[in-house]
Amino acid sequence: MRRAHHSPILSLFFVLLFAATAEAREVRIAVLAFQGSERAVQDFEPTIAQLAASLSEHRFTMVPLDLAGISRAVAEKSVDFVVTNPGDYVDLESRFGVTRLATLESRDRMPPTDTVGSTVIAPNRVGAPKRLADLAGNRLAVVAGDAFGGWRVIHREMDDAGLSPSDLAGLVETGFPMERVVAALREGRADAGVVRACLLEDEIARGMVGAEEFTVVGERQAAGFPCRLSSRPYPDWPFARLAGTSPDLAKAVTASLLSMAPVGGRAWTAPQDYTTVHALFRQLKIGPYAHLARTTFGGFVRAHWHWFLVAAAFVGWWIVHVARVETLVRRRTAELTREIRERERAERAARLHREERDQFSRLGILGEMASNIAHELNQPLAAITNYAEGMTRVIDAGRTDPAFLRDGARGIAGQAERAAAIIRRIRAFVRRREAKRESLDLDDVVHETLALFEGPALRRGASLEVRLAGALPPISADRAELEQVLLNLLQNAVDAMDGAAASGSGIVVSTSREHDTVSVAVRDHGPGLTPEVEAHLFDTFFTTKPQGLGLGLSICRTIVESHGGRLWPTNEPDGGLTMRVALPVPPEDAT
Ligand code: ADP
Repeated sequence: MRRAHHSPILSLFFVLLFAATAEAREVRIAVLAFQGSERAVQDFEPTIAQLAASLSEHRFTMVPLDLAGISRAVAEKSVDFVVTNPGDYVDLESRFGVTRLATLESRDRMPPTDTVGSTVIAPNRVGAPKRLADLAGNRLAVVAGDAFGGWRVIHREMDDAGLSPSDLAGLVETGFPMERVVAALREGRADAGVVRACLLEDEIARGMVGAEEFTVVGERQAAGFPCRLSSRPYPDWPFARLAGTSPDLAKAVTASLLSMAPVGGRAWTAPQDYTTVHALFRQLKIGPYAHLARTTFGGFVRAHWHWFLVAAAFVGWWIVHVARVETLVRRRTAELTREIRERERAERAARLHREERDQFSRLGILGEMASNIAHELNQPLAAITNYAEGMTRVIDAGRTDPAFLRDGARGIAGQAERAAAIIRRIRAFVRRREAKRESLDLDDVVHETLALFEGPALRRGASLEVRLAGALPPISADRAELEQVLLNLLQNAVDAMDGAAASGSGIVVSTSREHDTVSVAVRDHGPGLTPEVEAHLFDTFFTTKPQGLGLGLSICRTIVESHGGRLWPTNEPDGGLTMRVALPVPPEDAT
């Protein structure tokens, strides 16, 4: 902040004052020097002289300052009194509790309540603005943007006329003194300018401005006011004390001021009403009322309602979008759940169907084997009969050789056990059951199956040769299912050989190992496969036999594949067919 420049007159004044009251306490009076320190000293020197004369125990010092300097001096309490314009006073009053003691009185003009006013002037030419509203789009010269009479007073009138500073082409700040506003208009730097009331008349009287050179914009009538005005009038400058200034000193100073005789038409009168100044600040929302300019939520909404509308539309769209997506997701989830349930039902049905088919096939094989089974059972039964008859004859002959009878009874028991074993195997084969995996030796499975099958096969005239590899790695498989596969293949081989001329060779069952698989092959010397039969070999219900079901091989393949294995036919070059089953060896055993 720039401290106002001290003139030689002021320096002299200080020196005199200091010499006269060297012992006295210093009382500092800040004065707004809006037109420079010299002018301020000129205007208020009589006042200081009056105070010094009537209160000789004090040493009064005038401190000319600009607006910012006054504000700082009051804040720092480096002065005791302050003389400033009405606008600045109202600001200091609200910020620092500064209180007015007296109001300046210019006796030759207006009452102290109606002294300060402003005039807007424009070069007098065709098309010059007439009303304040006509200033829209014009450049307006003012001394300073924070000047009271020099700008704010007119700002309020413009506001009443519905004109905001942003409607102007610009605010041209000329700086003090106010004559510079006139200069700016003459130089064409502005289209209109704000000057304090009576400046125009004073300048015309001094011959500095032509009587018709300028026109007044927005002129209004103020009863009895001696000059042309564009604003309502406001009270004159106050003489105020700071909150911390001693009441006794304030009282003495007030009494001295009120008793002062007018000098140059200036005197001090009782403190006046400054509410009109408050009204100005409130209307412009500045100074003590700056908080009114702070946006309230309602005001913000009103100012930006279109953006709120856009935001609301977006939020609305978003809600609809989210709701729609949720509905779609829910619907799709329901669909998927339904699909999964249907698939599970279909899989369950397929499993049941497969199980039924397996059962059907087992019963079919059993049917085909029925006569063989009957024959098989006949052997132990005949043997039992023989034993029993032999023993009866011996007993009838009166012999009771215990060793002979024991042998007979043992024979009967052995044959009965053989028959029971046959029945057990058949029942185990036919019983419907869940597949279960166990570690098996393929040779062992082949051996067991052949025990069930050997008798019937041989009776149908086919010779059966078995070549087991031995020491095969174990496989993980379902014993009953593998037996079923082997039985099927053996049955087909026997069937194939039925019509064939006894060639001397028969069925060969062999096992082998190829590094990560073990295989069992059933070779016959029948007719082999024609291309048509080969094409449909594994089709369900494909059969060339009058009593056939056409299920056997299709089930065999399903079983082998469910074990991760492979079943395939090979026509042998020297006649006959080999059906081969290859099964995987679990990795840890495949060495
Ligand atoms: P089914 O034995 O009830 O006919 P399969 O599915 O076991 O049903 O066999 C289907 C058909 O495949 C048989 O009817 C037969 O024509 C042919 N077939 C199966 N095994 C042999 C074989 N070892 N030699 C020649 N043809 C065979």
